[in-house]
This record gives sequence, C-alpha cells and structure tokens, in this order.
Amino acid sequence: MNPTSPDPANAASDLVSRSRAVVWHPCTQMKDHEWLPLVPVAKAEGVWLETPDGKRILDAVSSWWTNIFGHRHPVIVEHVKRQLDTLDHVMLAGFTHEPVVSLSEKLVALTPKGLSRCCYSDNGSSAVEVALKMSHHYWRNTGKPEKTRFATLTNSYHGETLGALAVGDTGLYRDTYAPLLLTPITLPSPDCSLMQDGGRGPGESWEDYSRRRFSDARRILEAHAETLSAVIIEPLLQCAGGMRMYHAVWIKLLREACDELGIHLIADEIATGFGRTGHMFACDHANITPDFMCLSKGITGGTLPLAVTMTNERVYEAFYDDYATGKAFLHSHSYTGNPLACAAALGTLAVFDECNWMAIVRGLGQLMWTQTAALRSHPHVAEVRQQGMVLAVELAASPHQRKPYPAGERRGLRAYQHALDKGVLLRPLGNTLYLMPPYVITPAEIGRLCEVLTEAVDVATRT
Ligand SMILES: *Cc1c(COP(=O)(O)O)cnc(C)c1O
Repeated sequence: MNPTSPDPANAASDLVSRSRAVVWHPCTQMKDHEWLPLVPVAKAEGVWLETPDGKRILDAVSSWWTNIFGHRHPVIVEHVKRQLDTLDHVMLAGFTHEPVVSLSEKLVALTPKGLSRCCYSDNGSSAVEVALKMSHHYWRNTGKPEKTRFATLTNSYHGETLGALAVGDTGLYRDTYAPLLLTPITLPSPDCSLMQDGGRGPGESWEDYSRRRFSDARRILEAHAETLSAVIIEPLLQCAGGMRMYHAVWIKLLREACDELGIHLIADEIATGFGRTGHMFACDHANITPDFMCLSKGITGGTLPLAVTMTNERVYEAFYDDYATGKAFLHSHSYTGNPLACAAALGTLAVFDECNWMAIVRGLGQLMWTQTAALRSHPHVAEVRQQGMVLAVELAASPHQRKPYPAGERRGLRAYQHALDKGVLLRPLGNTLYLMPPYVITPAEIGRLCEVLTEAVDVATRT
C-alpha cells in the first residue's frame, strides 16, 4: 500500500487485498471473495456505514443484531470515553468496580422478577456455556448428579463454542462437528412458519398451533425428566435458524412443565433481549421468569463485547458454602466484567431511559409491515412474518406446495448483492430475507429499506 496515495478508491481496494492476505473472516468460505467483494468500512454513524471512498450503506441488520441505537450513539460514546479516563480493566475475581456493580443493579431491576445474580462473560456463546455448566452444577450440588442432559428445540441456535453448538440444531453450523459434541434431547419447535413440514395449517392461529405443538414437547420432557438438567430456548424468535417465530403461550406452558418436572429453563435472549421483539425481553411476552437468562448482542448497543448469564437466589444459594465443600462455580474469562464494556452497557441503558423506546419499536415495526404489503402476494414469497422490529420474508420455489428453493442456488446471496449495490446491507439467512434495523432508523429510511427489499426479492426469485 502506498500511504501517500490520494485516491480513496485505491486505498479501499488496498484494504481489501491486505485483509484477504491476513484475516480469516468469520462464517465465510474465503474463496467466495475471489468474486464477491469484501466491503471495507471506514466509519459509521447512526444507521449508516461508510466505505473509505465515501459510499454510504444502510445497516439493515444492525451489524449482526447488536447495534440497537445506531453506530456511535453519543450517549454510549460519552460513557465509554469517560470510563477510559479512569479505569480500563481489572480482573473481577477478588476485585470489583463501579461500572459492574451499577450495571448489575440495573439489570436485576430490568429483567423478569426473580433474576437477581449476574455472571459475566464476553460473548453470547460463553453466556450459554455458563448457563449449561451452572445448571448441571446446581443439580450436582443439590444431590442430583444424574441430571446431565439438555433439551433443545429443532432449528435452534445458541452459539459456536462446543457446548453452545451442541445444544443448537442448525445443521449448517453443527453437522461437521457432531462427533465432538454432547447429544441433546430435541423437542419439536413450535415454529409457526407455513413452510415448516407438517406444520401450522393456513387457517390455524399461531396460538392454537403453539399449544398443539407443546403436547409433543411435554411428552418428551416427561420421559427424560430424571436426567434432564435444563431446556434451552430462544423465546419467541429463532433468529439464526431463519427468523422463525412462535406464540408466547408455548413459553408459558414450558415454564409450567419445567416447574412441575424439576427441569431448569434457560432463556437465550442474546438476540431478542433489549427490546427487539417490542417488549424489553421476549420472556415478558409470556410474563415468565426463566431460571437462567443469557444476554449479549444489544447489551452494549453494539459497541463492545459483553455478555451476562443471570440467575436466581435459589441457584446462587446452592453454590454458597464453605470453600472445602468444593461447591463454588470455578468458571472465568480474562475479560469478565470489563469496565469499558460495562460502561457501554450503562450508556445503552441510559438511552433506554430517555423515552418510551418500546412504543417506538412497535410503531416502526408496524411501518415495516405496511410498507412490505406488496410482498405478501408475491408468487415466490411463502410468508412475511414479524415480531417487533424483525420482519422476515421467506422465499420459496412454490409456496403452495411448501417447496423451498434448493440451498445450493444461494438466492439469498443474490438479494445481498443487489441490496449492497443500492446502498443497503441485507444479509439473508438462506432463503430468508429479513430487516432488523437499529431503533433509531427514520420512517423515510424504512421506506427506502422496504423498497430495496422488494426489489431484492424480485432479483433473487428470477429464474
Ligand atoms: C448470536 C447468538 C448467540 C451467540 O452469541 P455470540 O456472541 O455470537 O457468541 C447465541 N444465541 C443466540 C440466540 C444468538 O443470536
């Protein structure tokens, strides 16, 4: 690279080739980048990303669902800057600090009643690992060491580390590593999508279908109750599995069954937490408290990595004993409770306090719904579904026969390329195109987003 080069287009293409030379990009077949250009980003503000040569891209997926209040929100930036002037980092074992204490107090107040303890890590997968280990360890500490198994939903996603991957059911990510993974018990997802095999009929309500679907799950839970440590779910919305959605009544029924059968309920709210579904947490739709709640992604407004696993006093007490009993939870990460990340999270919660964001999220969600009306009669759209500020469009070769497009046709990728060309970042999940923008997006920008989405559907479904 020539650092004196005055040409920003050159600088951008230099950056791309330097990246291809040394960076192994996540979730990517690197060979694709022989023909699919990497996108260099120089700066970002609000809902917009900007390339080194000045091209602006509307971030319709909130940078992998993290960026709820837009990039570089001034309140969050201010919190991080101020923190950097006083304390960068200190280990959390044996030490504590104001940001982690304040944040924990606020999270306890904000999350469903009964969640009273915060155990920190630095990414969603690790928060899931903590929940799985803590659940089994609880049963071990309370005289039920035989409870070693976990139940999960079909099509679920809980992260990429071996434990989190094991309790997921997204074949694309899991199958390769299956020989390395513990085997979960799989419950049929209450996914209300019309494309689900043997799923909801066109006349059946989400609630009726979710109830009907629960009876199968209940039978499996009963059969395995003795050895089951916990059930892990993504409440209301299975994101990575293709933005599949279900009714809150299923969560309520699961909570009742778990109580009755002595099984923990782990709510993975890493993607749904912090308002995405139109309530602060997806569990709030069902008015339940899980035994463990995993949070990450939106917690710092997409600024810094941070995750937390929350649990209740009953679980906490089962570990609280003399050192010699060996009951302590000996899990840690080097950056546990990092003060800068906690400050970013406090900044994010301060933004939440500024106004009624849930009303805004619901209003903008409604706008996304009305602006995509045309797609609902498109011959290759099987379904448009929505939950809060997540709108998903599922493409199908033949919606009436529930026949999906073969994955190998990579139709979502065509949509991605078209949208990028028009200055919009969509990143489809297979045949599912979705919008999951930051809550600070304007109605005019939603209009633009829906326009480009509609074009992208046409482009992707052309033969
Ligand atoms: C993203 C995600 C994870 C994993 O979080 P990472 O920070 O990527 O490890 C786990 N569960 C759900 C529901 C997610 O959306």
